[in-house]
Amino acid sequence: MDLEKLWQSALGEMEVQLSRANFATWLKNSRIVDKRDGTLIISLPNNFAKEWVENKYNKNILGAVRNFDPSTKNLEFVVHSTAVLEPKTQKITTGDFQRFENKINLDFKIDPETNLNSRYTLKSFVVGSSNELAFAAANAIIDEIGTKYNPFFVYGGVGLGKTHLIQGIGNEVKARYGGKLRPRYVTSEKFTSDVIWGIKNKRMEDVKRRYRDCDLLIIDDIQFVGGKRATEEEFFYTFNALHELNKQIIISSDRPPQSLPTLEERLRSRFEAGLTADIGFPEYEMRVAIIKSKLLEQDRNLSEEVIDLIARKVKKNVREIEGVLNKILFYREAKRIDLNPKEVEEIIRKTVKDFSHRVSEDQIIKAVSDFYNISVEEMTGRVRKKEIVEPRQVAMFLIREILEMSYPHIGEKMGRDHTTAIHAVEKISREINQNSSLSQKMNLIKELVFKE
Ligand code: ADP
Ligand code: MG
Repeated sequence: MDLEKLWQSALGEMEVQLSRANFATWLKNSRIVDKRDGTLIISLPNNFAKEWVENKYNKNILGAVRNFDPSTKNLEFVVHSTAVLEPKTQKITTGDFQRFENKINLDFKIDPETNLNSRYTLKSFVVGSSNELAFAAANAIIDEIGTKYNPFFVYGGVGLGKTHLIQGIGNEVKARYGGKLRPRYVTSEKFTSDVIWGIKNKRMEDVKRRYRDCDLLIIDDIQFVGGKRATEEEFFYTFNALHELNKQIIISSDRPPQSLPTLEERLRSRFEAGLTADIGFPEYEMRVAIIKSKLLEQDRNLSEEVIDLIARKVKKNVREIEGVLNKILFYREAKRIDLNPKEVEEIIRKTVKDFSHRVSEDQIIKAVSDFYNISVEEMTGRVRKKEIVEPRQVAMFLIREILEMSYPHIGEKMGRDHTTAIHAVEKISREINQNSSLSQKMNLIKELVFKE
């Protein structure tokens, strides 16, 4: 059975076993990577998900997989790699870039007392029509901690500034009220693991004290608390204890309270009783302002043309705007390469998620076949003609690079086995560095692929 199909079948079974929210939170974004000697390798989007799934669902998943493929003996979980792979700069490893990005972030510290990161301030928060309500609410809350707008519930999509805003409130409270008011920031993942730890080690009293002993409790990404009974209970009691004492509570979520499917009704209605504000997608002018403010913060500069290009193309996620900026600066500073607008576009393509996800493998194969002027049937067929070898390998390389598909999957798609796919991808990655005509062809094909 093909691995992709095997994984889809196993997921289908897990979907039946788990609650909808649990499935969506933990498994929906999983991918099958490979199978080696009876071990199925599955990747998850982050470390937290990896550990959670490993500890909680390993057995169930293995059972589900073995229903379809008894030869699987073990599961191994890994975290999705997000490789930086621009054509001109293949020699750059993800590690290099990671170190560069970390250095930018290292100037900021996390306060062990409050858990707040000094990087997130209200001063560095750019305000526009998509977030002005939430920003105004934030300022009103700081003036009247605990009394007037309690709880404050802010929601919005990924990378739109929720964490920045709510930590900004915490940092401002710290600055304004000196040691008198104690803020505490926690992600709901951390809250959950603290509660689990407390129960397991019979130290729930310590956990309780820790969270109730503050004047402003900021809980990030509450959607992850839903559906876990003990955690939700504890959160409910913590919430009430603080609320009764007029301590401020701030909550963020990726959706409004009424759309938190697994959250207990009593909690949801508490949230709705406070002040709710959403953060939407930034408009063009605001995106430009954000780019400029990030550059200013780092004392760096980019041409108006490049700023405009980024602002036009990266629309739905400020974190992606930052990702693109950091990559451009990385090339310039660490590699001494000033990217031209075409190359910047290439980086945008790789950074912006839905950009690449809109592309299917069939579109990639079609683009390659158009470019080389051979039929799709020939490309995926068995014939080993010399003029078909390169297009085939290029198609496999691009499917891997753009869609991060597994080798077995790519192999099957192209009527080959996975070792052929590995060989093709490795060969093209090598040659692209040495052969400028190949790398030029690759850029042209990508243009065909991404042509709207
Ligand atoms: P979320 O928590 O909504 O997923 P974050 O608060 O982590 O998003 O924001 C992602 C990145 O974008 C952060 O580095 C943050 O500083 C930045 N960012 C988001 N919105 C703004 C804004 N309005 N002004 C300045 N930076 C922003
Ligand atoms: Mg966040």
